[in-house]
Amino acid sequence: FISPPDPSQKNWVVSRAMEELADDLEHLDVVSKRFVDGSRRKEIVEDWVKSQAKYDDSQLLIDGQQVMQDWERPYMEAMAQATTETHGDVLEVGFGMAISASYIQAMGARSHTIIECNAEVVKQFEQWKARYPGRDIRLAFGKWQDVIDGLGLFDGIFFDTYPLSEEELEKSRP
Ligand code: SAH
Repeated sequence: FISPPDPSQKNWVVSRAMEELADDLEHLDVVSKRFVDGSRRKEIVEDWVKSQAKYDDSQLLIDGQQVMQDWERPYMEAMAQATTETHGDVLEVGFGMAISASYIQAMGARSHTIIECNAEVVKQFEQWKARYPGRDIRLAFGKWQDVIDGLGLFDGIFFDTYPLSEEELEKSRP
């Protein structure tokens, strides 16, 4: 197209590209009006591993931060679907409110290994596990960065954590 036989061919391609670009910008202008402002988060000061976890019906707070909320259900369900596709060995990182863990159990997995580092969240895990007698559900207690290497191989990995400290957040930035 650099030097086409007929200059109108080049013009056509260029004007088509310009129209598409203008179209994209107009669309962005329309959808951006529906965006909402993000919320400012409290700075992470504590090491959340030892922080208090507070559960209520619709959310989990750790050290006062909203770690998991009920409205994330559809997203958890879709991710559980993907990780249990072969009904094989599933690794789940981050137990939270057990929303995704319950989907994984409902969909069915040969084994379900959960890594969780917060002691209070682990207490919830023990209660939750009691609802599934006979199922192969295991817990690896600790930070995934420390325990994942010894766990073997999995067919699906469900990863849903957040940075635990300011340091981890900094390190995760590219
Ligand atoms: N998918 C869950 C929500 C997970 S919330 C649900 O559906 O309810 C994130 C969880 O990850 C918290 O329980 C938190 O304690 C845990 N977590 C955060 N960082 C972690 C890490 N580095 N290693 C292990 N667990 C971690």
